[in-house]
Amino acid sequence: MDIIHLLPDSVANQIAAGEVIQRPASCLKELVENSLDAGAKRIQVIVRDAGRTMLQVIDDGSGMSETDARMAFERHATSKITNAQDLFALRTMGFRGEALASICAVAQVELQTRRAEDEVGSLLEIHGSEVVRSEACTCPVGTNIKVSNLFFNVPVRRRFLKSDQTELRNLLTEFYHIVLVYPKVAFTFVHNDEILLELPVGTEKQRIEAIFGNPKRNVFTSGFVEVSTDTELVSIRGFVVKPESVTRKAEQYFFVNGRYMRHPYFLKAIQTAYSGMLPNDYQPSFFIYFDIDPEAIDVNIHPTKTEIKFADEQTIFQILMAAVREALGKFTLAPQIDFDTSGSIDIPLPSDKPVSRPQVAVDPNYNPFHSRSTYTPPRQNIEHWQSLYEPSRPASEIRPEEGGIVLTESMVESCPLWQYGGKYILLPAEGGLVFVHQHRAHMMLLYHQLIEQLSQTQGAMQQLLFPEVYTLQPDEMVLFEQLLPDLRAIGFDAEQLSADSYSIQGIPTQMANQSALPVLQTILHAVRERGANTQQEWREQIALSLAEASAIAQNKSLTEMEMRDLVLRLIRLPFYRLTPDGKTILFVLTDEDILKRF
Ligand code: ADP
Ligand code: MG
Repeated sequence: MDIIHLLPDSVANQIAAGEVIQRPASCLKELVENSLDAGAKRIQVIVRDAGRTMLQVIDDGSGMSETDARMAFERHATSKITNAQDLFALRTMGFRGEALASICAVAQVELQTRRAEDEVGSLLEIHGSEVVRSEACTCPVGTNIKVSNLFFNVPVRRRFLKSDQTELRNLLTEFYHIVLVYPKVAFTFVHNDEILLELPVGTEKQRIEAIFGNPKRNVFTSGFVEVSTDTELVSIRGFVVKPESVTRKAEQYFFVNGRYMRHPYFLKAIQTAYSGMLPNDYQPSFFIYFDIDPEAIDVNIHPTKTEIKFADEQTIFQILMAAVREALGKFTLAPQIDFDTSGSIDIPLPSDKPVSRPQVAVDPNYNPFHSRSTYTPPRQNIEHWQSLYEPSRPASEIRPEEGGIVLTESMVESCPLWQYGGKYILLPAEGGLVFVHQHRAHMMLLYHQLIEQLSQTQGAMQQLLFPEVYTLQPDEMVLFEQLLPDLRAIGFDAEQLSADSYSIQGIPTQMANQSALPVLQTILHAVRERGANTQQEWREQIALSLAEASAIAQNKSLTEMEMRDLVLRLIRLPFYRLTPDGKTILFVLTDEDILKRF
């Protein structure tokens, strides 16, 4: 008896699906790329339970004819290439004709699609490669694909999926990779009825700002410099972070011909361009877009691989490094700089004018990517930050109130101090009168202490006499459980009471006698609102909320000793002019300003 036979299509498709569709994020990528290939100008992504239950992509692209709609789900059915030659001139995202076949092999898919020239559209429902419904329908021009119960027929894969937070993070990562190269297409991302991202049509800059910008500080405008170079081989454009705006969590993105790619070798080129400018363990953030003849790169043959081979990598390495150096050079030649002396790194001055040596202060806690949001900062804010980073001012013109006064410990130890308005600490320094916001100064100290404790898991706990019961919504519960190890690390003692409640039996000693619940709620809210995704980020939010809640009140009167102690501890911090969320802690009324008043 012959033993070799052809696998039925449904089985072959399931096997292929294992390669192409590994998780909801790969499904999202394939569907959105199809929408883009279809020329969509507006794409909506609607997700339920991180894509496990439902993942829907709605576009206003070309749509499909009735026959094409049926064909689209066949393996190797594609409208994008017809022969092997086409592979090398590829400008569309998809070409293998495998994605839809794979998706419908492992999910329940409903498709509605209509071309502009057709009066009625087509509706198609496919469960595990089997067409269960096929009829005409009324629907808008474009394509609407709904993928439900991914891996419903492949339990192993379903079990293999990670937690909802992780899968949602994967979805967003995949989404960023795409939307960052299509600023001319509007996108929406909805998860469990909540709009997570609303991205209008704009420039690349605006797109980046809309995703990563921090509403408080408009970091994108102020924190990055533009890179741009054109050579015969390649053109490189994009943005790289200014050394002083560097953050713990680096956002590193390379794109080539409109696709995201990973490229460790080119990453090295950027790191080399920054050498000596960043503190140890810090990585630069960047968004770099390469444009190159498609023939000079190895086409992304495998749909899930993001590494791309270039024909002339060494030369491009050099071009990229030079371009980034030049961009950073332009910026460092114009010192728009903070004179903080501690925790700083040197950037050489272009001339030897007799001015104080400018330094770039690096705030290790400052994360410009705290918040995902479509918020546009108030105009005034933008101008403020732009003025701080004005590119063309010589160092000699830097005015002391921007940081020219160096507060030394001996100065603070010996000068008189006053409390003003129950809110501010005033102290005369050489060159001006220093105003310190007492609540924020204290908050900054607590923040540093808490971050330290979080990294060492050694927060001190104060037992509560009367435990408080904390009742949570299901989604809050998920988040709370994720944060729990860190909350315990800084001194919260919580024990689960029921499916939706915890008993809070102890609080961090910093909180003195405060009630636990409002603080916990603030923490949860902050973590969610500011889109803290990594442990580092949510620790920052925990520390910030807790510090905010526990810092001395605005109208608490302080003794001279307390004030001195507070200011001394403040100025020992590596960075103390702004709180981690960008509020002023301290400013100087300079001698010059005072003189002008008379
Ligand atoms: P590929 O994108 O590699 O061609 P897919 O399986 O992803 O393969 O899609 C198969 C075909 O279905 C595409 O070539 C395209 O003609 C059609 N198609 C898929 N999605 C859409 C869409 N959103 N709008 C219009 N046509 C689509
Ligand atoms: Mg495709």
